[in-house]
Amino acid sequence: MTQVESKTTSNDTPFVPIEKIVALCKRRGFVYPNSEIYGGVSGIYDFGPLGVELRNNIRRYWWWSMVQLHDNVVGIEGAIITHPKVWEASGHVENFVDRLVDCKNCKRRFRIDHLPEENVLQNKCPACGGELTEPRRFNLLMETYLGVVEGERMKTYLRGEACQNIYLDYDNVVKSSRVQIPFGICQIGKAFRNEVTPGNFLFRQREFEQWDLQFFVHPSEMQQWFDFWKEKRFEWYMGLLNHKDRLHFREHGKDELAHYAKQAFDIEYQTILGWQEWEGIHWRQDWDLSRHGEYSGHDLSYSDPITKERYIPWIVETSGGVDRTFLNLLLDAYEEEPDPSGKEARTVLRLHPTIAPVKVAVLPLQKNKEELVSTAKSIHHTLRRLMVTQYDDVANIGRRYRRQDEIGTPYCVTIDFQTLDDQTVTLRERDSMAQIRLPIAELPMYLLERITWR
Ligand code: ATP
Repeated sequence: MTQVESKTTSNDTPFVPIEKIVALCKRRGFVYPNSEIYGGVSGIYDFGPLGVELRNNIRRYWWWSMVQLHDNVVGIEGAIITHPKVWEASGHVENFVDRLVDCKNCKRRFRIDHLPEENVLQNKCPACGGELTEPRRFNLLMETYLGVVEGERMKTYLRGEACQNIYLDYDNVVKSSRVQIPFGICQIGKAFRNEVTPGNFLFRQREFEQWDLQFFVHPSEMQQWFDFWKEKRFEWYMGLLNHKDRLHFREHGKDELAHYAKQAFDIEYQTILGWQEWEGIHWRQDWDLSRHGEYSGHDLSYSDPITKERYIPWIVETSGGVDRTFLNLLLDAYEEEPDPSGKEARTVLRLHPTIAPVKVAVLPLQKNKEELVSTAKSIHHTLRRLMVTQYDDVANIGRRYRRQDEIGTPYCVTIDFQTLDDQTVTLRERDSMAQIRLPIAELPMYLLERITWR
């Protein structure tokens, strides 16, 4: 069941150019290029005041849905640096490579697995038709060194995927937290990849964040849990989207499947970049625990407390990206709406109220009327204890509504002269722009009911 109430159904609005989102993010403090004053670093970004609120809401909502709502799922937070053998066991040292080709004519660089099949077959650049070079292999792991004495320093890696910590901590979790199979371990954490073709803003970065569920099952129950989590994750994304027809599953072809996988699905979302992976649902069988068992010499089998059967659990993995969620939700929410009065178009972010960075703006109708200002400030101080609230008294009320629409604030509260007479305020809703009058005393509950995930 979708936890967040479903939003409006999709319409035929055109895809939003990424540049519009980049500009909005910079202008309103969602995302900045990292080290911008030094010219920036490709594929690395910082999150500003609104970005960090949105990101935290996205993370919290995932954690709430996955860990808090499932009695058989627990969470961990592992370190970014691990023992280097982890990456040998996982196969990343050997196989975590991108195969790249360059166009001899226009000098553009492409990942072979991202090229249309006909371009690969004809060895032809998709941009200019030029001839492509022989593929070259690049390992994506980012190296780092532990220790200070030259010659004794140990080479290791910043984790290339966050989920490895879950396999490493699996045995500790079993022994310390009374979980029994079937159960899951969740984690949200940073991952680092020396992507050779970073780009499209947050879509492909070199430092990014992933969320993973690794769900441990008896082999005989693998299919049923795979189907369960596949549907659950799809519904989760669906519940946050305006354009529901832009989400689908893509099943991996036999040639894409890992040797241990019976099935794999990507949840894909369609944007101006085409259909692109958002989250992967993977059949990992006993591969990860067996490999770590083998490389570490530690027995990672599970002993069933009732049947006494001993086996290596099989794993269903759901692995998605916080940053891709951030970007996709902005692309999904952004709209420029013509103004019926023929003035400036209204830019509105139709973000789900539960994840919008600011929940309510409190606006005195005029800033030179002391009673309006003090009443507004008092309402602001009450509400800010419960939710992220902005107080704004600069410019006319129409402009202030627009400012909030552009950052996705679902509600605005206006304190006007009637407020001073009857203690009611105007509550304006972002999407419909409908306005209702509400007693001040009822405001907190009214808003909480609409912005809290349930
Ligand atoms: P892709 O094929 O797009 O490179 P992947 O199959 O390598 O992705 P996974 O290793 O399965 O991705 O990672 C899980 C999730 O992490 C992806 O579904 C995506 O949401 C996110 N992700 C992966 N690479 C990046 C990246 N470079 N920048 C931002 N998010 C990423």
